[in-house]
Amino acid sequence: MTQGTAQVLAGPPAAAALLDEARRRAARLPHPPHLALVRVGEDPASVSYVRGKAKKASEVGLSSHVHALPGDTTQADLLALIGTLNADPAVSGILVQLPLPAHLDPAPVLLAVNPAKDVDGLHPANTGALWNAHEGLRPCTPAGIMALLAHHGVPVRGARVVVVGRSALVGRPVAGLLLNADATVTVAHRATPDLGAVTRGADILIVAAGQAHLITPDMVRPGATVVDVGINRVPTEDGRGRLTGDVHPDVAQVAGALTPVPGGVGPMTVAQLLMNTVIAAERQHAQPEVTGELVR
Ligand code: NAD
Repeated sequence: MTQGTAQVLAGPPAAAALLDEARRRAARLPHPPHLALVRVGEDPASVSYVRGKAKKASEVGLSSHVHALPGDTTQADLLALIGTLNADPAVSGILVQLPLPAHLDPAPVLLAVNPAKDVDGLHPANTGALWNAHEGLRPCTPAGIMALLAHHGVPVRGARVVVVGRSALVGRPVAGLLLNADATVTVAHRATPDLGAVTRGADILIVAAGQAHLITPDMVRPGATVVDVGINRVPTEDGRGRLTGDVHPDVAQVAGALTPVPGGVGPMTVAQLLMNTVIAAERQHAQPEVTGELVR
């Protein structure tokens, strides 16, 4: 790998700042915000992610509980648990860890979560609020990307931003957040012809395609800020594999600033989840009526 020259936009200090803010705001509430983590089955990655979220929650003074359901849980039982958590005023936020086992349909499950407790920000009420620039809970990775840019002083207002990827989880919501922040946004995807011609127009290039090293130096405007959201496992000689992003390492020769993988966007996602739990708790404290069963 060649030695890069781009400024490194490190995730850990930006995540630490977000966690500090979450800790400070949580301490001002009469009760610690509570995060309900719902996991179905024993998928090892999900077990590890949920454990990590619970550990970080306690580090910032939030309480949490892991609702670990057996792998053969029915859709009705899962929906019943969501209903109980929606109605429980002690629960500030609900996160259903995806993917669910194949026999369960995630769409009705995500729809069942009370939007006021939807700390993943994926309920249509929250995605609609995002696109209309109304108050709501924002999806964690996109909001984390915005916090990362802000932490490192990258101005978004007026910037030409290209987002590569249009998933519900990353590409679409980050495009919405950027529009709300007065960026000029272009969204590219799998069917975009001559991707490089589009990406070269970006002052800020955000790549969430899930394709290792899709973005090569010739596709980047000199001095641009590049945010690499991709997490790809590539094979290594020892057979263990290693993580790499969607951006080729040589892009560091051209870009003005670049997020590393790992250690860039990754740490922002969990930090934003906890921030969302605090935001949800603050709003529920101010308006307890929106947390009950009647609001969907
Ligand atoms: P996805 O597969 O749902 O969506 C990928 C998008 O990229 C699609 O819209 C597709 O059209 C586009 N795309 C794919 N190949 C392309 C190509 N060759 N040219 C142009 N566009 C192309 O993926 P996702 O859920 O949005 O995740 C994207 C990546 O981000 C993955 O590597 C994922 O692991 C990673 N991710 C990271 C975090 C984090 O916390 N850092 C969070 C979520 C996702």
